[in-house]
Amino acid sequence: MRNCVNHPDVKAISTCHNCARPFCASCLVEGGEYYYCKEPACQEALKTSMAIDGLPPRLLCPNCSSDLELTKAERESRKFRCSDCDALVDYTVNPPHVKKHEEYALLLATRNEGDVAVIKSVLDDLEIDYFVFDEYFMVLDPLIQPTRFYVLKSQVERAKLGLKDFKVHLLGVSMNSGPEGVE
Ligand SMILES: [Zn+2]
Ligand SMILES: [Zn+2]
Ligand SMILES: [Zn+2]
Repeated sequence: MRNCVNHPDVKAISTCHNCARPFCASCLVEGGEYYYCKEPACQEALKTSMAIDGLPPRLLCPNCSSDLELTKAERESRKFRCSDCDALVDYTVNPPHVKKHEEYALLLATRNEGDVAVIKSVLDDLEIDYFVFDEYFMVLDPLIQPTRFYVLKSQVERAKLGLKDFKVHLLGVSMNSGPEGVE
């Protein structure tokens, strides 16, 4: 392998899938299957491929350009919160939407994995706009960190109604509480 296009002293680890030039690790972003460099045209190609395959494990935040590592749940839902700029990023649309945290309210929190699946399917069926947080505050015991659902404020009531018939094992935060816990 040749040396990085941007760093002539550093060995390239791979080529960009779009422009085929060699780059070092810090110059590449991992797509689902391939690496892409940070050239705008190549980032566009990466976004297009993600629209088909789901999000890659690493991604540049479209708001602050931080290099982010995504959880499996975030990759599948294509929605995540940037840990650097706190923006909520919605990759279900292309180009991705960057949303304000204040537009969303905490709907509920649970530690029951079965509940998470049920809640997701109910919210998906209702076409509710929501984000799932399950990887924050890892400084505490990760085992006691509940999965939290944030819902677009104007859709909170509809989400609550839709979930009313499900016996979910809620912890800490009740579904009737306000948007507390929004950092
Ligand atoms: Zn490239
Ligand atoms: Zn480089
Ligand atoms: Zn960001």
